Amino acid sequence: MIKKNNLKIKKKYLEKIKIFKKYNELYYSKSNPIVEDAIYDSLKNEILDLEKKYLFLNSKDSPSINIGFKPSKNFRKIKHRKPMLSLNNAFNKDDLLNFEKKILNFLSLNDNNSIEYSAEPKIDGISASLFYKNGKFIQGLSRGDGVEGEDITENLKTINDIPKTLKGKNIPTEIDIRGEVFIKNTDFKKLSEKFANPRNAASGSLRQKDPLKTKQIPLNFIAYTFGFSKNLNISNQFEFLKNLKHWGFKVNKFNRLIIGVDNLIQNHLKLEELRKEIDFDIDGIVYKINDFNLQKRLGFVANAPRWAIAHKFSSNKSISEILKIEIQIGRTGALTPVAKIKPINIGGVLVSNATLHNEDEIARKDIRVGDTIIVERAGDVIPRVVSVDFKKRNQNSKKFVFPKKCPSCGSSTFKDFNKTTKKFDAVRRCINDGYDCEKIAIEKIKHFVSKEAFNIEGLGKKIVENFWDLKLIRYPQDIFKLNYDKISTLEGWGKLSVANLKYSIEEKKKISLSKFIYSIGIRHIGQENAKLLSKTLKKADNFFDLANKNNFEELSNIDGIGDTQIKSVQEFFSNEKNLLVLKKLKEHLIIISEKEISKDGVLNEKTFMFTGKLVGISRAEAKSLVEKNSGKIVSNVSKKLDFLIIGDKPTIRKVNEAKNLNIKIIQQSELLRMLNIKDS
Ligand code: NAD
Repeated sequence: MIKKNNLKIKKKYLEKIKIFKKYNELYYSKSNPIVEDAIYDSLKNEILDLEKKYLFLNSKDSPSINIGFKPSKNFRKIKHRKPMLSLNNAFNKDDLLNFEKKILNFLSLNDNNSIEYSAEPKIDGISASLFYKNGKFIQGLSRGDGVEGEDITENLKTINDIPKTLKGKNIPTEIDIRGEVFIKNTDFKKLSEKFANPRNAASGSLRQKDPLKTKQIPLNFIAYTFGFSKNLNISNQFEFLKNLKHWGFKVNKFNRLIIGVDNLIQNHLKLEELRKEIDFDIDGIVYKINDFNLQKRLGFVANAPRWAIAHKFSSNKSISEILKIEIQIGRTGALTPVAKIKPINIGGVLVSNATLHNEDEIARKDIRVGDTIIVERAGDVIPRVVSVDFKKRNQNSKKFVFPKKCPSCGSSTFKDFNKTTKKFDAVRRCINDGYDCEKIAIEKIKHFVSKEAFNIEGLGKKIVENFWDLKLIRYPQDIFKLNYDKISTLEGWGKLSVANLKYSIEEKKKISLSKFIYSIGIRHIGQENAKLLSKTLKKADNFFDLANKNNFEELSNIDGIGDTQIKSVQEFFSNEKNLLVLKKLKEHLIIISEKEISKDGVLNEKTFMFTGKLVGISRAEAKSLVEKNSGKIVSNVSKKLDFLIIGDKPTIRKVNEAKNLNIKIIQQSELLRMLNIKDS
């Protein structure tokens, strides 16, 4: 039994290792991660936890012994004279106290304040090792798997920050200088289409096969440590950093010498705030025992030094500053305020926009331009401004005045009044929710081509904006008469991509009625409501006819469609531009009717509702059985209901409501009898 269980655990462990290896390859070797750092980190921890719990588990690819990824075949492999290691992480005060306690124990010291740390910002780039002999740069390697690196000498030579000859005094005869290659946030902006974050951009650029390509990218280098050395006459890290500067390297101006965990925490808080002023990513602070003798005594654990730790910044929150508040306009006219912030790396993603939700939220939190704020980015959710640090507020700062006119078309704006809550909506909208407002029109077209709507491949949001700027589109129908000759002359468009676009547009000219209704973007008519409308209206002509009949009452019979939706459909059809769009679209499209629901079933014109658990049949199957036999399912007890079918433990309220309205209450067996199905 135990054996079988162990096999199961081993299988699970090896599956995790396999995925972990793949993530490492994509991140380190291809500079193209497919998961967020937080997901990678949690997988790493799961593996380490399993190893701790089940001592029989091990793998050469385990994060407990493995660093990075084996060197790429594009470069010559060279063994590091001293391995390039990773760092252990700390996230809070307890982790730091624990780290210090272990060190004191190891060294048999008991005075907390006897340890001096070199506290250095942890640059989120990629490390490189530079071999200097008699002050001359000889060879440069990437970290690779920590044991063997890639020979990227020629690429490193293109970086201006890397001195080809060292200057000054006290230069050791041989030394491997180690530091971080990185790209500035401002330079990353030009490459952001190709890479997820500055770190990947630096890694991808540095490890180009052709050094000329590397040269085109503005890479930087900051030095912080050494590997192998011969005749190095320096006794501590801080002195070493000073020497690096004399020899011609750039070092970090925020490096500090600190004693005591409380002071480390203070410095961490200070730097977390200063981060937004620094034009490159730092993801924490590295604390190194300053004294080289103590470092030597402490030595290494599996893949990291025992004498250092990386105190990481939070992976989902950070501090930044609001540069500007922009008002974005959605396809239904909603005015959404967005804060443009000083770019900041949160969990591996460079964040420069954060939502402020709506006018009320800005007023409630008193958010202003120039404010120091906490930004949060959790999972795939759009980053948001959590709070303002009022202590940091500039005395001259002014309250943000939310525009009362639409910033795109200048029309007036309004807030909906909610009859149920008797309150005005928090969202302000442009009164002009049609094609007359430029921003709304662009958003409507983006919606029209989106995945759930026409799903036109190759016509993403950026391309819609670009086509708009070039006046190639103004209305959805323009998509079906694009000027392909003009498009083929545009930058980034080749014959093949134009042909592909043409093909995907042609292919989508046949569309179901429900998708069509959803695509034209009537407010309050999402995918589900579009389905309900198309089911009732059945034919495209009936939908178009709504414009002529000016009678929307019939829609009120649709279960699930309420006053709000009807009012919205009515407003849509009262807009001349919308009618023109419909007319023109009709000329280009084949709109297919929803599958006809047969009217000759035995339950024709009868409405049903279920309450309680059915026996031997799921609710979904029973519903489809009713519909197949031309019956209709409703979700409320009302006069329109013919039969309430009760199963086990029905909702008493529903049963009483049905009784009051004299609605027939039947058992499941009776329904089956109506359908001529024998109850088992
Ligand atoms: P690390 O980057 O967290 O820490 C070690 C590195 O810190 C060193 O190699 C060095 O390059 C750097 N460093 C910067 N400043 C330094 C200084 N002053 N002194 C010493 N070192 C300094 O460790 P790692 O093992 O290379 O990478 C782990 C990180 O990479 C994690 O954050 C992980 O989430 C991420 N990662 C993500 C994926 C993914 O698929 N998303 C895959 C692999 C790794």
